[in-house]
Amino acid sequence: MGALLRDPDERSRHDGEDRFRSMVEHGPAVSYIDGPDEHASTVYISPQVEGLLGYTPGEWYHEPSLWPRLLHPEDRSRAIAENKRHIATGEPFRMDYRMFHKDGHVVWIHDEATMALDERGLPRLSYGVMMDISERKAGEESAVYRAYHDELTGLPSRAMFEELLELSIARAKRHDRSVAVLCVDIDDFSLVNDSLGHRHSDGLLRQVADRLKDATRETDLVARRGGDQFLMLLSDLDREDMGETDAALVRAEASAQRVKAAMSAPFEAGETELYLSVSVGISLFSQDAEDGASLQRNAEAAMYESKRAEPGSYAISSRGTFDSGAKLQFVTRLRKAVDAQRWTLYYQPVVELDTGRMRGVEALIRWIEPDGTMIPPNDFIPLAEELGLIELIGDWVVRELVYQAQAWRGLGMRLEIGFNLSPRQFWQPDLAQRVIERIVAGGIDPAQIVVEITESSAMIDPDRAQEILWSLRRSGLRIAIDDFGTGYSSLSRLREMPVDVLKIDRSFVAGADGDPQAASIVGAFLDLARGLGMTTLAEGIETSGELGFLRERGCELGQGYLFAKPVPPEEIIAFALGRALMPGSVSTSAAATAG
Ligand code: C2E
Ligand code: MG
Ligand code: MG
Repeated sequence: MGALLRDPDERSRHDGEDRFRSMVEHGPAVSYIDGPDEHASTVYISPQVEGLLGYTPGEWYHEPSLWPRLLHPEDRSRAIAENKRHIATGEPFRMDYRMFHKDGHVVWIHDEATMALDERGLPRLSYGVMMDISERKAGEESAVYRAYHDELTGLPSRAMFEELLELSIARAKRHDRSVAVLCVDIDDFSLVNDSLGHRHSDGLLRQVADRLKDATRETDLVARRGGDQFLMLLSDLDREDMGETDAALVRAEASAQRVKAAMSAPFEAGETELYLSVSVGISLFSQDAEDGASLQRNAEAAMYESKRAEPGSYAISSRGTFDSGAKLQFVTRLRKAVDAQRWTLYYQPVVELDTGRMRGVEALIRWIEPDGTMIPPNDFIPLAEELGLIELIGDWVVRELVYQAQAWRGLGMRLEIGFNLSPRQFWQPDLAQRVIERIVAGGIDPAQIVVEITESSAMIDPDRAQEILWSLRRSGLRIAIDDFGTGYSSLSRLREMPVDVLKIDRSFVAGADGDPQAASIVGAFLDLARGLGMTTLAEGIETSGELGFLRERGCELGQGYLFAKPVPPEEIIAFALGRALMPGSVSTSAAATAG
């Protein structure tokens, strides 16, 4: 642009200006030429300026000091200083500042100008463009805002929590106070998420956030850590010793209890109401850890510990007595086990109660560590669900049991094989397809496979459960309701579901022969199942008294330590070959189980 001005020829200067004019008067930005003075008095300004700031070019020419007058007070001295430098040095002017529009609103402007020098190298005119960047500025603000706030719940984010935690630790060190970090995690939330869908789970997270805020004092910080995890920070706690325990711990526990109580009323998810609980882990500065990262890590480990021991409660991390490292290690170990597929399937015989013959087996997973330690499913399946690892484990189970069915078939054995689906697996969108593909690819008759799903997972969303069960059934698989009696089934629902086998939970079977109340419950379950055309199965038969009672009541099938514990597959061959499963019975018939 400097070249344009230095052009010595008057005519070509005009040509240049015309070209310049047509170029600048149609672009999105405001172009201008200012005099080299403190006010940046306007020599030329393109008409778009009226849209930007509400003043016509005429008004700009008329009032030489319009520019400084419209500058926002907070930016004025900075902008004027920058302009002075621009004039004095001839270097480009480049800055963002705010101006007032004629109607009073604030406009963010990006302004860039180059200085044209005359022949003697003195500043002659400044050529610049101004553009509206209000939106971008708003965006920048919200980017900062976003980093510190959780969009969904409006709570402070983990980043904000961590900064405030550091500050509060620093304060606690100076004033000999204590700080508590609580890690709060919704129990079985993945299940809610999978069964109700994202829209409802977002709503639930907001409700939980609101209740957490209500349950805490103004000075306590509640943040969302991500997913279904929240963090709470209790600062400036007293360190006063109260004998066995200390005041800070009492405060933290009281908070955990308030949080727990705040969850007790039902939550709304669309038309339905449902109950949620949270597990809480507590870590204290400086009793348990001295830095923010460790406090958070320990609180998380304590939360997992609490979830494993008793969901809906809280656990306190404390140096020495609570080895959070080991607990987190468990998570790491589980991830490794998933990678290395450190699983094996044990099989427990399913016995016909009147003949003692083995009808089939139930596959039960075990985790085998490299040192031979065997970890039972109840110790890791819930955690695997929580960590989103269950699908991988479930896929392994189906693959493995197909191999096993093939191997048994090779020996002339045709057993019904049941396997378990955890709640979250059940809600996988492509469950039926995933399972059936493997079974059919392995050349196994789907009618030989029984899918076990617990009563409580089927009843979370009976409508969808019904659909899923039908899709399994249409593939030819058989369906069992596991742990029956522990959930809250609606009988009309149960009638509409394609259920082949009703497995009565062990807790009702135990001692049913000697306990009239248990006996009448089991009797009612058996009548119900028969009425609905289902096969009855009693779980956990341990005594011959229980067996006698069940046979008398006409229960068809049973499982339990009385017959056999879950065993490796080789031992199933022995049972099939005739080892007696029924105490007192002569033998089971291999022929009867061979297919
Ligand atoms: P479940 O499906 O109800 O399995 C029955 C559980 O009761 C098994 O425990 C079995 O060993 C135990 N049991 C059988 N008979 C008796 C008895 O007479 N007395 C007593 N006290 N217990 C008996 P296990 O193998 O520890 O499995 C526990 C639960 O873990 C299972 O309950 C099932 O819900 C889950 N599970 C097992 N394998 C898998 C799997 O492959 N995938 C998934 N998702 N869950 C599994
Ligand atoms: Mg089962
Ligand atoms: Mg069961």
